[in-house]
Amino acid sequence: MQTRICILASSSKGNCTVIWNDKHALLIDCGVGIKYFKSALARLGVDIFTIRGVLITHLHRDHVNPVLGKALKRHGIPLYCHADAQLLLERMHHKSMNGSTLSFDGTQFVIDCFAVDTFDVPHDCGGGCRGFKISWEHSGLHSLALATDLAEARQHLIPHFCNLDTLILESNHDTDMLWNDRIPWILKKRIAESHLSNEQCGDFLKQVLLQSQRAPKSIMLAHISQDRNTQELALHSARFACEAVQADSNVVISHQREKSQVICID
Ligand SMILES: [Zn+2]
Ligand SMILES: [Zn+2]
Repeated sequence: MQTRICILASSSKGNCTVIWNDKHALLIDCGVGIKYFKSALARLGVDIFTIRGVLITHLHRDHVNPVLGKALKRHGIPLYCHADAQLLLERMHHKSMNGSTLSFDGTQFVIDCFAVDTFDVPHDCGGGCRGFKISWEHSGLHSLALATDLAEARQHLIPHFCNLDTLILESNHDTDMLWNDRIPWILKKRIAESHLSNEQCGDFLKQVLLQSQRAPKSIMLAHISQDRNTQELALHSARFACEAVQADSNVVISHQREKSQVICID
């Protein structure tokens, strides 16, 4: 049974990723509008009734849209968040999500055919921020890991990304474009301190690849800033990291409001 991965949207304006096979689907984050969400799913041929849950990385509005959260609730789809974020998530929805949020605590949990491991990610958000490693069996063990909105790519994160099929990692901004931008200095500082630059993403990827026995088939770049980055710069940095260690991974770009290339894993 083939598993497919698509980033429906990724940026500071909205994030949502779907992983699915013929029977079940999982979402990571639901920070997009309902109309866009439904049309993107329809174009992929994913039936909303196959979605078994939404894994929430953190509670910034570009990762949880309360209106979409409520619509998913009406379909009986639970939102999974860390125990530290559960009350805040329910408050965000004015308690309308009471009973339809489920919490995890750092130990592995299973949603149908997907096993989910979580890890803490440094980011400035109430309730904390988490990354996910999702694994499934089909002619062997397959897995992907995702971390967006990273203040820094700390050493302890590296093992979570080694020896997987697919990596989804933030490549937010180009450092020169950020510091030359006309936005207030305090905002530049906040972006630099809470999001991963192309260079940091490339350095992290290189370390992951050096510590892996096999290179991932695909590396998906997420949360790319529209104003302080370009697709070319983000791609260049990640490809440069791959070339430095002779990894032949396919590097894929995500978009602000357009779905990414679909990654298929047999
Ligand atoms: Zn974000
Ligand atoms: Zn965030």
